[in-house]
Amino acid sequence: MSKVALVTGGTRGIGEAISVGLKNAGYTVIANYAGNDAAALGFKDRTGIAVAKFDVSDFEQTEAAIHAIEEEYGHIDVLINNAGITRDGTMHRMTFEQWDRVIQTNLASCFNTCRAVIEGMRERQFGRIVNIGSVNGQAGQYGQVNYAAAKSGIHGFTKALALEGAGKGITVNAIAPGYIDTDMVRAVPEDVLKKIVATIPVGRLGRPEDIAEGVLFLVGDNAGFVSGSTLSLNGGQHMY
Ligand code: NDP
Repeated sequence: MSKVALVTGGTRGIGEAISVGLKNAGYTVIANYAGNDAAALGFKDRTGIAVAKFDVSDFEQTEAAIHAIEEEYGHIDVLINNAGITRDGTMHRMTFEQWDRVIQTNLASCFNTCRAVIEGMRERQFGRIVNIGSVNGQAGQYGQVNYAAAKSGIHGFTKALALEGAGKGITVNAIAPGYIDTDMVRAVPEDVLKKIVATIPVGRLGRPEDIAEGVLFLVGDNAGFVSGSTLSLNGGQHMY
């Protein structure tokens, strides 16, 4: 029986590469998205992967959607918390709305999804959870107090949940991507992006597939000894 994987924000960018990578590795994949129906339908046609529309920042909506998926597929073995947004601005200009949207979408979403899958994983004594953090959560970034706080929070969330899951066959890890060539990064002004690329030792932006490779390692049956860790995939830009 193939393992079932839910990828939040799984229809575009990094999430798309993760969804496709998992499908190619034999998982049954459900790719969540928020509202971009055109992108989701294009993704579904291209890949044959099922899509599920729900807002991961909304607790009730997420709980209901995940329980419906569990009912349809029997179980969720792998959860990739990848959905994320940016709403950049320096502190003296940032609105509460910008702060709150990013915290709810990027961090509270991890509680919403994990809360819904964790009981099933505990019962089956198996689970793989990967949370997508960011180099900007590790190092901070100008104009991103909201995003850096949310991503940094993900790293603490990961370690605490890893401790809880350890005795139940559930591993919880984070990946901290550097700058990856997706819509999110294409929104950065070209001159700023040029300066950023100049700080990446490998001399290029990352590819979504670079992150999918890390996910495939962390969710594997043989990765049961890897838990509570953060895998930094950033072309050498930031080293811990
Ligand atoms: P994209 O903007 O390309 O894609 C975002 C995906 O998340 C879309 O599928 C989108 O759905 C979905 N999404 C957004 N908000 C919600 C929501 N409330 N509920 C459900 N789904 C939602 O992002 P990236 O691929 O660039 O980024 C993916 C993850 O990687 C994010 O967490 C990001 O913070 C992180 N990251 C990205 C980096 C980069 O350089 N790109 C660097 C470091 C971390 P829809 O299509 O419907 O809008």
